[in-house]
Order: sequence, then structure tokens, then C-alpha cells
Amino acid sequence: MSVQHVLVLNCGSSSLKFAVMNAENGEELLTGLAERLLNDDATIKYKIDGSKHQNALPYNADHKVAIDTLVALINERALAENIIAVGHRVVHGGEHFTGSQVITNEVLAAIEQTAQLAPLHNPANLTGIEAAQAAFPALPQVAVFDTAFHQTMPKHAYLYALPYSLYKEHGVRRYGFHGTSHNFVSAEAAKALALPTDEHRIITAHLGNGCSVCAIKNGVSVDTSMGLTPLEGVVMGTRSGDIDPGLFDFLTAQLGYSAEDVSTMLNKQSGLLGISELSNDCRTIEEAYLDGHEQATLALDIFCYRLAKQIAAYLVPLSGLDALVFTGGIGENSDIIRAKVLAHLSFLGWQVDAQKNTDARFGNAGIITTDSSPITALVIPTNEEWMICQDAARLAQEV
Ligand code: ADP
Repeated sequence: MSVQHVLVLNCGSSSLKFAVMNAENGEELLTGLAERLLNDDATIKYKIDGSKHQNALPYNADHKVAIDTLVALINERALAENIIAVGHRVVHGGEHFTGSQVITNEVLAAIEQTAQLAPLHNPANLTGIEAAQAAFPALPQVAVFDTAFHQTMPKHAYLYALPYSLYKEHGVRRYGFHGTSHNFVSAEAAKALALPTDEHRIITAHLGNGCSVCAIKNGVSVDTSMGLTPLEGVVMGTRSGDIDPGLFDFLTAQLGYSAEDVSTMLNKQSGLLGISELSNDCRTIEEAYLDGHEQATLALDIFCYRLAKQIAAYLVPLSGLDALVFTGGIGENSDIIRAKVLAHLSFLGWQVDAQKNTDARFGNAGIITTDSSPITALVIPTNEEWMICQDAARLAQEV
């Protein structure tokens, strides 16, 4: 059989991440990012054969323009002939999907229907699917859902204490996100620590621009911190995470905010950015913290405290813990945040190995607790593209 490649597409609200990967070994033949789409300074950056390139995209380029540019690049570099499938990251699969799916008209209709729950992401995902179908009409297209891994959550974990009709009639419930990442790093952790596949308790902390925590029992998600939308849960770069829902009344009735103002504030102006009044970027916050910046210090303290509380809460569904995994840009790189979170949870008996914690950065995986710690904390770089590639290749064989 000839070499098999998969084109992986991840359409964000104003970005497109892409990769052409070898489905056997995960080798990346082409990777890149088109960003600031729908703006006057959209660009596409990519890496191929070890060399990096960057080009401006036309004024107001949208996802379709970005994908057309990518397709031209794929054809120019003669990468198309070994591509056996296109794998799409789709943010919200609602209750329709418990796993990845070959995209049919029914699947497309369900993604469209779910767009109401993810108005920023699902429409971008759909544009990506349509553009890829037009560019590669003969290839199977596969959707890999951020929500699918969490469909195993029990009802008492995913229901809000709201009128039940909101769930029955409108699907208002907790769905959770980052499922591909939680699934990947928990499986890698179980492998690395030789935990029995049918008997383990793992907590994963995916800490990127968005942050979520997941409780995984014997390979399945039993609870996660994001909810109906990615706003719920721990503190993030610009999102508040959990707040008192009564804040909505206060802001609208007392301060004259509109519903849209509240949403913008909670999603885009809160979190690390809101508290520090400096940046949403963890690197900037850490530099300022090391310089003694008061609000950056506060932002880090709140971030770590809330994260530790969330992790401790998952001792309830798991009735114990074998491993805590850090991943995502912050989880994979910030030894400062990892040390602070583990210190809050030192009652669990673990101790941070300072050298190992410093070493496990910049793409290096590794255990960061001492050998004598009763529970292991470790860093595992996530690789959502590789998961999407594998699922797409597997499902393409079945078409
Ligand atoms: P996304 O959720 O968009 O995929 P990433 O997983 O790339 O984001 O994570 C982005 C976050 O990771 C940013 O807050 C960034 O500051 C943080 N980060 C990246 N490198 C470092 C580092 N060396 N130290 C601390 N934080 C880092």
C-alpha cells in the first residue's frame, strides 16, 4: 500500500490551522496557520521541508480563501496524490455524536443544527468542510468533535440545576470541550505510566488560551469543567470561567450593560487579561510577576487557586487519583503555574521535583513529581492534529 497522508483542518473563528500528516507515523509534511481572517491584515504562515514561509492573504480573506490558498500550495508541492482523507476539527457536536464521523448530509445537518450552541465556531467549521469538499470531492471528509469524548459523562455531571424543559427542548446541558486533547493526553499518560487500561483515574488540565480540566476514569470522561459553552470552569486567558450568574442582573440592571456587552466582557476581557490589565498571554503575565507586578501576581494566584480547586473537585467522581496531566501551551511550558498548582494540592502527598519541572518545557514530556510521590504529575504535549489524522484515516478505510 502506498504512503497515506491526511489533510487536517482546524477552522477557528478567524483562523485556520492546517497540517498534512503521514497517517502511519504522524510525520508532518506541511503545517501552518492562516490568521486574522476577515481582517485587513490576514496572513498565511506555513512550514514545509523544514523551511518556513509567510505570505499576506488578500484583503478580507475568509476561510474559503485561506483553504483555496492551502489547496493551491498542496497542488504546487504535489502533496495531493497521497492524501486519503480530510479530517476536520468540529467544536460542537451536541448530543448527536459520541465519536468521529464520516461527513454525510445528515452529519452536516446535525452540525448546522448545533451551530446555535457554538455560534462562533461551528459556522467556521462548516465553511471549512464545504471548501474542502469542493476542493477534494473524491475524498472522504471526517468530522472530529471537541465534545464527543465527554458524551460519557453521567447525567448528574452534565445537567444544570435549571428547569428540566431547557434540557429536553433546547439541549441546555454541559457538553465540555477540548475532548480530543483530554482523550489523547490521558491515553498517553496511561501508557507512559503503565496504568491498567480498565482501571485508572486521571485528571487532565488542558491549559491554552482556553483552559479546561477533565476527570477520566478507565479511559472515559466522567466530568469536565467547560459546560454548554467554553466559558464555564477555570480561569482562562480572556474568559472568566465560573462566575455568579447573578452578575448578569447586576451589570444589566445597575450598570446598563447589554447582553452582548456582558458576553464580550466575560469572553474577551476577563481572565488573566481582566485581572492583570496587562495581557492574556501567560508569558507576559509571568514576566511581569517575576518583576513584582501586583496585578499580574494576582492574576496568576487566582488562575492557580481556581485550577487547584477544580482538580481537587474531581477527586469526587474519581474516588482517588493516579495521575495529573498538564498540557496545552501553558500546561506544557509554565513550570511556575505547575509548581503553584501542585503546592495548593500538597495534601495529596506529592512533591515537585524542581529540576524535572524545569526540564519538562518546550515540547519535552516528563514526570514532574519526585519518585516517592504517591500520585504522579506529568507533562504531556497535546497533539490534537495527530488524533484527528488517525480518526480520519481509520474512518476513511471504512467508506
Ligand atoms: P490555543 O488554545 O490557542 O491552542 P496554546 O495551547 O498555544 O493556545 O496556548 C497558548 C498559551 O500558552 C498562551 O497563554 C501562552 O502565553 C502560553 N505559553 C506558551 N509558551 C509559554 C511559556 N514558555 N511559558 C508560559 N506560557 C506559555
